[in-house]
Amino acid sequence: DIESLSDLEKLDVIGHGNGGTVYKVRNRKSSSVFALKVLRLDPNVAVIRHQAACEAEILKRVDSQFVVKCLAVFDTIEGDLCFVMEHMERGSLYDELRVRVNLPECVISRIAEGVLRGLQYLHGMQIVHGDIKPSNLLINGKGEVKIADFGVSKIGVGTRSACIMCMGTCAYMSPERVDSERWNGGNADGFAGDVWSLGVVLLECFVGHYPLVSLGETPDWAVLMCSICFGERLEIPETASPEFRSFVRRCLEKDWRQRGTVNELLAHPFASRSF
Ligand code: ATP
Ligand code: MG
Repeated sequence: DIESLSDLEKLDVIGHGNGGTVYKVRNRKSSSVFALKVLRLDPNVAVIRHQAACEAEILKRVDSQFVVKCLAVFDTIEGDLCFVMEHMERGSLYDELRVRVNLPECVISRIAEGVLRGLQYLHGMQIVHGDIKPSNLLINGKGEVKIADFGVSKIGVGTRSACIMCMGTCAYMSPERVDSERWNGGNADGFAGDVWSLGVVLLECFVGHYPLVSLGETPDWAVLMCSICFGERLEIPETASPEFRSFVRRCLEKDWRQRGTVNELLAHPFASRSF
């Protein structure tokens, strides 16, 4: 049991994100290893404080083998917020893709299943993750993929703020979030947006680069927004299996009402390993 931050000894810096730094730490008493995410909070920005409090609240309630476990949350005297998390030895899918470039379908299928089970759990708790992307999918020593980072998640639905919009990575955002008026995102519940993001991530795993813009294109906001909302046909390589193609098409259905749901996709041959 970790009672205070002084129980933990910093071993290494694992990574940096928008809001802070992640360390590998060890419990001095038990010598178990954890990841410690330190969120630098500007005490003058109430929105960020609110968001961090949300993150802490969500993390404490979440308990699933498909979601990175948070064991404790601490405030520091400097006003930072510290999350003690289960350590995921192999880092993120983002790190993995930088080394391996692309992945075989059998691996992508396991990622799909793990993330869908994580989403099934979160959505069942009325939690929209809102920021599914390679750096938020972590891999442990057994090769299991789990969902992490609720920095832009929110409890309940319909409480979208401008802050959440600009902080989430737009590259993995669904059409209804990118251009909410035209795509009627105002009525979208947000759950379908997580499925879209999963589709982008899986296609990226297969082709080895961000899949919604051509390789040479400058990925600025305008180019991205156009390809997400108006990109005409989805290019899934001919070399992909029919199961993978059909799975990704269901995730990347532009109209969120028509998009595959988490339960539908869990039963899909690609994710249920029945192909
Ligand atoms: P953003 O701030 O937009 O979420 P990010 O996901 O890269 O960006 P963090 O969530 O702070 O930022 O994580 C930074 C990196 O630290 C991750 O990409 C991952 O490589 C590593 N990391 C985070 N949590 C853990 C963990 N529990 N175990 C192992 N590595 C982790
Ligand atoms: Mg993250």
